[in-house]
Amino acid sequence: MRIVLVGPPGAGKGTQAAFLAKNLAIPHISTGDLFRANISQQTELGKLAKSYMDKGDLVPDEVTIAMAKDRMEQPDAENGFLLDGFPRNVPQAETLKKLLLQEWDARLSVVLELVVDEDEVVRRLSGRRTCRRCERVWHVLYDPPARTGICDDCGGELFQRDDDSEETIRHRLEVYAEQTSPLIAFYADENILIGIDATGPVEEVTSRAMAALRPFVR
Ligand code: ADP
Ligand code: ADP
Repeated sequence: MRIVLVGPPGAGKGTQAAFLAKNLAIPHISTGDLFRANISQQTELGKLAKSYMDKGDLVPDEVTIAMAKDRMEQPDAENGFLLDGFPRNVPQAETLKKLLLQEWDARLSVVLELVVDEDEVVRRLSGRRTCRRCERVWHVLYDPPARTGICDDCGGELFQRDDDSEETIRHRLEVYAEQTSPLIAFYADENILIGIDATGPVEEVTSRAMAALRPFVR
């Protein structure tokens, strides 16, 4: 199963992807997480990506696609994957389509859109906290850890991402509207788009997502 999750920043893609990938036994591939891993390892790619990410702009397609391709070629992704945060514009989607056909003679199974209004994504992003060690996301109000600032799962330190500041959130939402939201029409035209209501408790959204994906499970 080859799945793409799409939705605005803060829609809950990372949160849902963790559960869905586990349920479906496929790897969760997040380009945001891959960039952040490069930043913490201080690679050249990390340095380049950071200059764009801190402003809330997209990292250039060429390096993003090369990094995503490299990850999709790993043996654990042979029978499928769940992409989170990639593709993020129409050129990336077109390249992904060609790549899947050329390298795997495959197509995407389904694109799941998480639908949430802008006020809610701002509330979600402004309270988001991320674990420095395991990348698990928490929320100060909606999903707080037992001990403030400490990840329940691994004991790592929680931090607020640099790009989750109010000004950068606003810019990322503009970038989403201009560059990423056209993917909705792109995948609707391909007849592989399914939208689900992503409001309400995390477990309810996961149930809706699993119900939407079930027909595609082989
Ligand atoms: P969000 O939680 O807002 O959905 P991500 O963790 O997916 O954020 O991405 C954080 C940042 O990483 C983006 O604002 C962008 O700068 C960069 N990024 C992630 N994925 C891509 C991509 N596919 N193309 C270009 N830039 C990307
Ligand atoms: P994305 O990957 O789409 O940017 P995240 O999964 O990081 O989104 O979620 C953004 C924030 O919203 C996190 O702090 C997360 O804990 C919180 N969150 C995710 N899903 C829900 C939900 N259903 N209800 C309330 N808060 C949520």
